[in-house]
Amino acid sequence: MFGVIFDSLLTLAYPQACQVCENSVENFSDGVACRLCWEKTQIFSGAETLCAKCGAFLQDKSSNYQTFCHRCDEHFYDYASAVGTYGYALAASVLHLKREPLIAGRLRQLFVSRLQSSKFQDATLIVPVPLSRKRFLERGFNQAAVLSKILAKQTKISLDEKSLVRKIDTPMHRAGMDGKARAVSVENAFETKRPKFIENQKILLVDDVFTSGATVSNCAKVLKKCGADKVYVFTLAKTL
Ligand SMILES: [Zn+2]
Ligand SMILES: [Zn+2]
Repeated sequence: MFGVIFDSLLTLAYPQACQVCENSVENFSDGVACRLCWEKTQIFSGAETLCAKCGAFLQDKSSNYQTFCHRCDEHFYDYASAVGTYGYALAASVLHLKREPLIAGRLRQLFVSRLQSSKFQDATLIVPVPLSRKRFLERGFNQAAVLSKILAKQTKISLDEKSLVRKIDTPMHRAGMDGKARAVSVENAFETKRPKFIENQKILLVDDVFTSGATVSNCAKVLKKCGADKVYVFTLAKTL
């Protein structure tokens, strides 16, 4: 505990290096990236066109029509939304969150306000994407649960960390893995332990990053099998 406090004091006292460009981070609330790298990061404002289902970025201009990327047609969740595109400050923050269970003020604020302006207002239960037991023991925390706790505290929606579990320790997604290989690696990896807690709920499924969507789609599949009414996916970042 002392170590954590000491580290925080050090960070306050001395600017640390931006994990994107190595210039110094002058504002503590910017976290691991500097102001300029935050400015380069694509944060969704509502003025752009995103896929109406998975939230993938489609174009800068807004559209009057619902547009779909169609790569997500087969996915089992209802809608997905993210703070912005995985890159610069968002990518650095996601990577940092895999090492330390800390989220800087700026990102915390973006995450909460993105949820408040989303179409997920009727969510009744927050469920983090689980880690396998092995990975949890290695890391010591689940980054999706850290994010879920922030949302639960802000919104007063109940948090359920127990009902959805990852029974298979799937290999980490590697850069060379194509969509099909990823889909196979997470298929049947999840199960629900307490179906009664899931039944009729509108679930906000939370993770750090949405990549191919295979993980969250498989979670949604088992949640819906147990009678979940809706499954919304909410992440910090969405890859292009
Ligand atoms: Zn920077
Ligand atoms: Zn899509």
